[in-house]
Amino acid sequence: MTVKRGAGDVRDQASRCMDCGTPFCHWGCPLGNYIPEWNDLVYNRQWERAFALLDASNNLPEVTGRICPVICEFACVLGINDDPVTIRDNELAVAEYAFSHGLVRPKPPKKRSGKKVAVVGSGPAGLVCAAQLNQAGHTVTVFEKDDKPGGIMRYGIPDFKLEKGLLDRRIDIWQQEGISFQTGVNIGVDRPVEQLQKEFDAVVLAGGSRVPRDLKVPGRELTGIHFAMDYLVDANKQTGKLTAKGKKVVVIGGGDTGADCVHTAQRQGAASIKQIEILPKPPAQRPPEQPWPRYFKALTGCEDGIEREWSVLTKEFTGCETSTSSVESLRVAGLKCVKVDAALKEMPGTEFEIDADLVLLALGFLRPEPIKGLEIELDQRGNFKTDENYMTSAKGIFAAGDMRRGQSLVVWAIYEGRQAAEAVDRFLKEKR
Ligand SMILES: Cc1cc2nc3c(=O)[nH]c(=O)nc-3n(C[C@H](O)[C@H](O)[C@H](O)COP(=O)(O)OP(=O)(O)OC[C@H]3O[C@@H](n4cnc5c(N)ncnc54)[C@H](O)[C@@H]3O)c2cc1C
Ligand code: SF4
Repeated sequence: MTVKRGAGDVRDQASRCMDCGTPFCHWGCPLGNYIPEWNDLVYNRQWERAFALLDASNNLPEVTGRICPVICEFACVLGINDDPVTIRDNELAVAEYAFSHGLVRPKPPKKRSGKKVAVVGSGPAGLVCAAQLNQAGHTVTVFEKDDKPGGIMRYGIPDFKLEKGLLDRRIDIWQQEGISFQTGVNIGVDRPVEQLQKEFDAVVLAGGSRVPRDLKVPGRELTGIHFAMDYLVDANKQTGKLTAKGKKVVVIGGGDTGADCVHTAQRQGAASIKQIEILPKPPAQRPPEQPWPRYFKALTGCEDGIEREWSVLTKEFTGCETSTSSVESLRVAGLKCVKVDAALKEMPGTEFEIDADLVLLALGFLRPEPIKGLEIELDQRGNFKTDENYMTSAKGIFAAGDMRRGQSLVVWAIYEGRQAAEAVDRFLKEKR
C-alpha cells in the first residue's frame, strides 16, 4: 500500500491508527506523547483538544514534527505488515494548526516563587528546562555563548531541515512569558560558575556535547580537512568562508551529521559529493526475522549527484602543493581507502583512491566541552555525571541534555530538559 504524506492526508492517516491495546508508538516516543489519543482527536476534527494533549508532553512539537527520526513510527504496530501511521506529519499538522489559530500564546505563570535559576546553554534541553521552570514560577535566565539561542537546532541543523524563524517564533513566546536570555556569554570564561552559584538558587548546565571525534591518519594536517560542525555552523551563519561551491567534497561518516553536510554541499553547488562510511549498509526496512516493533533506523538512500559507499576505511589523506600561499602550502587532494568486512577487517586487494579538495569529518562526538573552572565528576564516557535527580557532584548544579547523556536527539534533549526541571523544582521547594 502506498501512503500519501502531507497535510491533506492528516485525517486519513489519523484514521489508520488502530488504537492498539498496547500502543508501542507511545512507548517508543521518549516523551511518551499521547499519540493514539491525539490521532483520534484529529480524526474527529477536535484540533484544539489535540494540541492541548500534544502540548502537555512536548514543548517543541513544531521541531520534532519536522526533524525527529520518528522512533514512534518504527514502533507502530501497523508497520509490521504495512506502512506505519505518519505520526510525525500528524504531530506537525497539529502544532502548525495551533500556531496559525493563535493557540500558542504567552502564558506567564500566575505566581512567582522568588527563586532564581540560571540555565547554561540554549539548545533544546536548556530551552525546555527553562520553559518548564518558568511555568513553575521560578525566575529563569538562560546564558548562551553563541550570538543567538537555539543550540544545534540553530547552528548545526541546516535551514532546509529546520527554518530558524520557527525557533524565533517559539523563543519570542518564552521571552514574553518572562524568561530572560543573555547571549554572547560564555560561562566559565566571561562569567565564572561560582558567580552564578552566588546569584542563583540553582544552576542547570545544558551545554551539549561538541568535542568531535577525529581521524588521526597520515595527512590529517592538510588544509581543506574540517570537522563537520565547523562546516555546518559556517553554512548556517552564511559567512561563505567554508563553502563547498565547485569543490570535490568527501564526507566521512554515514550518520545524520554526515547527511546534513552532504545536502548542504549539494545546495552550495559542489562539483561532486561522495559520502563514505566504515560500517556496512543497514537494511532499509524492518528485517523479516525481526518484525516486531523495535528501534530501528535506516539511512537515507542515494540522491542525484551523491555517491555513497559503505564498508570503507580511510587510510591516508594525500596532498598537493598550492601555488598561492606559503602557509597553506599543502592542500588535501584525495583519500587512500580500503574496503573492510563486517568485522571491520581490511580486505586485501580492495585498495582505492578518491579525489577530494574538501573533506568533512562527521565521525560523531566524544564528550562535552568542559566548563572552565568547574570541578565536577564525569562519567566513564566523559559526560557530566548526575544522580537520579539530575544533580551533579556539586550541590545545586544540575546537568541535562547531551552534556549529561552524550550526543543524542532533540526529542531526548526535550525529555532531559523536562526531567531536570522537575528535579530542580523539587530541590527549590525543599530549600524553602
Ligand atoms: C549536525 C547535527 C544534526 C542533527 N540533526 C538532528 C536531527 O535531525 N534530529 C534530531 O532529533 N537530532 C539531531 N541532532 C542532535 C541534536 O541536535 C542534539 O542532540 C540536541 O541539540 C542536543 O541538545 P542540547 O540542548 O543538549 O545541546 P545543544 O543543542 O548542543 O546546545 C548546547 C548549547 O549550549 C551552549 N553552551 C555550551 N557551553 C556553554 C557555556 N560554557 N556557556 C554558555 N553557553 C554554552 C552552546 O553554544 C549551545 O548553544 C543533530 C546533531 C548535529 C550535530
Ligand atoms: S517526538 Fe518523535 S518519537 Fe515522539 S511522537 Fe513526535 S515524531 Fe514520534
